[in-house]
Amino acid sequence: MPKCPACNNDVRAPSFLNLDAWTHLQCAHCKARLEMIPPRSFFLGPLMAPLFVLARQGRVFEVIAFAYAFLTIFLVLFESLRPKLRLRKKPLAKPVVQLKIDGPAE
Ligand SMILES: [Zn+2]
Repeated sequence: MPKCPACNNDVRAPSFLNLDAWTHLQCAHCKARLEMIPPRSFFLGPLMAPLFVLARQGRVFEVIAFAYAFLTIFLVLFESLRPKLRLRKKPLAKPVVQLKIDGPAE
């Protein structure tokens, strides 16, 4: 279970795919707003495409490309199971259009 960086208590992290829950994540103990530190392995992803282009050049490149792809997927899965948290600094995005629902009736 990830720890709150502000008060060091356990935080119940939502599922990795539940993005809405992540945007509203708050520490239950100190009410600090939290966000996930993006997994470092995400940055390995963009290299996958050129490697698969290289893979057409021969058997050796093919093996390297597949090994790299498997390693990247494994690392992303591994890191997403153990998310790290940091304090959210940016305020939540405000809705651009504000509806005047409770204005005076005409
Ligand atoms: Zn806390």
